[in-house]
Amino acid sequence: MKIKNNNLIMRIIERVDQLQECLAQYNNVGFVPTMGALHNGHLELAKQARKECEIVVVSVFVNPTQFNDKRDLERYPRTLDADAKLLESVGVDFVFAPTVEQIYPDEQKYVIEDESILPLTAVMEGAHRPGHFDGVVQVVGRLFDIVNPHKAYFGLKDYQQLAIIRKMVEVQNRSVEIVPCDIVRAEDGLALSSRNSLLTLQQRAVAPLIYRELIQIREKIDAGNHDYSKLVRDAILQINKNEYLCVQYIEVVDAVSLQEPAENKTVRVCAAVMCGDVRLIDNV
Ligand code: AMP
Repeated sequence: MKIKNNNLIMRIIERVDQLQECLAQYNNVGFVPTMGALHNGHLELAKQARKECEIVVVSVFVNPTQFNDKRDLERYPRTLDADAKLLESVGVDFVFAPTVEQIYPDEQKYVIEDESILPLTAVMEGAHRPGHFDGVVQVVGRLFDIVNPHKAYFGLKDYQQLAIIRKMVEVQNRSVEIVPCDIVRAEDGLALSSRNSLLTLQQRAVAPLIYRELIQIREKIDAGNHDYSKLVRDAILQINKNEYLCVQYIEVVDAVSLQEPAENKTVRVCAAVMCGDVRLIDNV
């Protein structure tokens, strides 16, 4: 499919200096950071960038510093050839697929110290995956420094990550505009994720229950039920009845601060559930 009007042929670039040379002449660059194993969720971000920006860069980099579980890192799916074909089909200009050495030439460990970011990282994913957001903030900061994008596209699928990146941009005084994109789901409701490919057929068949239970909570909240702890307890019971599913957390949080919600504040319902040994997250 050819939908580009800038006549560029898509290029795959591994080196930081090469990418920077290519981007030097543009000042309306849209950027989509990913870890590859791309699906329609990622492609929607790239398509939105294509609509809004002169140049679209998608990075494919499995960032080792954000994995708190070594086995999760080792078995993370890597499918660069297929990814490149998909990205070409939606009109991306540059695929940035660097080596670890290109991103981290000096192997420094990064730890978030900013007092206004820390409360966002302490809860949910941060509580269950120690060091995860240190790695996320580190890599996104590094990629922003390299690409210097005008706009960067992030999925609401990783709701907490989006909140943290927004705060990071604010405290670091960066000029990039963060563009949130809706969660793309399979027909049965399961949020698309690169990790879904690791599910067995039986696990895949029951995984949509997570979204169904989140929807139940949302409907009850919309109907005026604000007994969040009971709503969450009931949903956990329902999900855990399934032999393949085990809830790590379901939380109803303030949509901005990610802390316990005050009355009449907009909330987000977030969940992490083990499906076999695959960790799935979702939110509504
Ligand atoms: P990842 O490759 O998992 O690091 O994701 C890269 C970007 O794609 C992040 O901004 C994610 O939030 C986004 N993303 C992943 N899955 C989805 C989805 N199902 N719908 C929308 N965005 C997604």
